[in-house]
Amino acid sequence: MKMYDAIVVGARCAGASTAMLLARQGHSVLLVDRSTFPSDIPHGHFIHHGGTGVLQRWGLLDDVIATGAPPITTMSTEWHGVRLTGENVAVNGVPLGIAPRRTALDALLVDAAVDAGAELRTSFTVEDFITDGNDRVTGITGHERGSTRPVSEQARMTIGADGRYSGLARFVDALAGNACPTLTCFYFSYWSGIPDQGIRVVDLGDKAIFVAPTNDRLHMVFVTWPIDQAPSVRADIEGRFMSAIDESPDLAGIIRNGRREEPFRGAVDLPNFMRTPQGDGWALVGDAGCHKDPYMALGCGDAFRDAELLADAIHRGLSGEQPLSDALAEYERRRNEATLADYRQNLHMAQFRGLPPEQRALRAAIQGDAEAIRDMYLALELLTPPERFFNPDNLQKLLSGGPASWTLVPKPSRQPRFAPGSGIHGKRRLKSPRPAA
Ligand SMILES: Cc1cc2nc3c(=O)[nH]c(=O)nc-3n(C[C@H](O)[C@H](O)[C@H](O)COP(=O)(O)OP(=O)(O)OC[C@H]3O[C@@H](n4cnc5c(N)ncnc54)[C@H](O)[C@@H]3O)c2cc1C
Repeated sequence: MKMYDAIVVGARCAGASTAMLLARQGHSVLLVDRSTFPSDIPHGHFIHHGGTGVLQRWGLLDDVIATGAPPITTMSTEWHGVRLTGENVAVNGVPLGIAPRRTALDALLVDAAVDAGAELRTSFTVEDFITDGNDRVTGITGHERGSTRPVSEQARMTIGADGRYSGLARFVDALAGNACPTLTCFYFSYWSGIPDQGIRVVDLGDKAIFVAPTNDRLHMVFVTWPIDQAPSVRADIEGRFMSAIDESPDLAGIIRNGRREEPFRGAVDLPNFMRTPQGDGWALVGDAGCHKDPYMALGCGDAFRDAELLADAIHRGLSGEQPLSDALAEYERRRNEATLADYRQNLHMAQFRGLPPEQRALRAAIQGDAEAIRDMYLALELLTPPERFFNPDNLQKLLSGGPASWTLVPKPSRQPRFAPGSGIHGKRRLKSPRPAA
């Protein structure tokens, strides 16, 4: 049986990216997915917070724009009635965001992986994982659509990029830390006839609205509510959706003048967790490794970032530059470091706790100051080093002498209702070690 360097299960933003990066470094990669491409999934797709910069570094940003997803350089956010609009939030041609439909984005990433040399197998469902008889994962077993014949494949690394219900995470019983149950539900659809105003976020205190331009001259419109409202929202999705929009008269004027082009879709199962993303012969990336509420729209950008961290680690390990186990441990450390502050902030926002007082004060202070608003968004979107804006001198200047202790990106003022770590359970050995097929 052929021994691949890596088998990647799941070929969307985490898996296709990881496969592409490994193949670009000369590794033999098998990329499998039970879906075919292009295909949609009921997930959002506003990529920001560093994600556009990563796409540009990979040489794919122009291709994504060419699918018809407009670069987003205007950002408007509204909390507690204060609306801040930043224009021209872009650096060296990299826009703060872009919101390509998943049909376009995932297919483009899959093509990039294949162009780089990865072997692609779609309509292939992974049913189980194989081991060396001990704890080391050595490959997959699955079947092609329409066939019951089991197919096994072996690799030095097996990577789960198979989303939040990851079969690989289940198989290795990956530790899930910082866990918090679902906090929100999301419903969304697509509208035509809406003028492009960039990304708009309107938090109404007990619900929030997100609007952004996407492919085909459409706008995605998302509304989120606390999860306890899911049954009543589900009972009258359109009514509740439109009455949420009506709470923002300005947005209502725009959206009610447009036309909804697609049915509503939604999600009510959005748990928050950070799994241990690596072990002997295996790794997790994207939602499989860390799933978070979509409130701050971090999923795709984080998946790109972690795909880079993981592919680098595996390359160092497989090329002999560093013991593989050390390289994977470094992947875990770097992923956690890069994730944790945003993860916590996201939990805070998804509980509709409003902005912490220092952020409210800052937003009130810079209202009407176009340059400061742009600089703040550039920093928050990682287009400039955050400390360039969030440093004591600048904050004091903007706040006319506010507390000097306000330093870098503000942290949530209160801990989430569900204490971090509440979902931790001990790491156990593989559930059912199996010999290699
Ligand atoms: C309602 C909602 C709104 C969101 N909004 C945003 C947003 O605006 N911006 C943002 O950045 N993120 C958003 N997210 C999160 C984002 O969609 C995810 O973070 C992202 O899709 C994760 O990508 P992934 O590649 O890790 O997993 P997925 O996109 O879930 O892909 C997993 C793939 O694995 C395949 N797979 C799974 N099991 C198997 C198996 N056994 N065999 C073969 N294949 C398998 C699946 O077919 C699938 O193609 C949102 C999510 C939701 C639910």
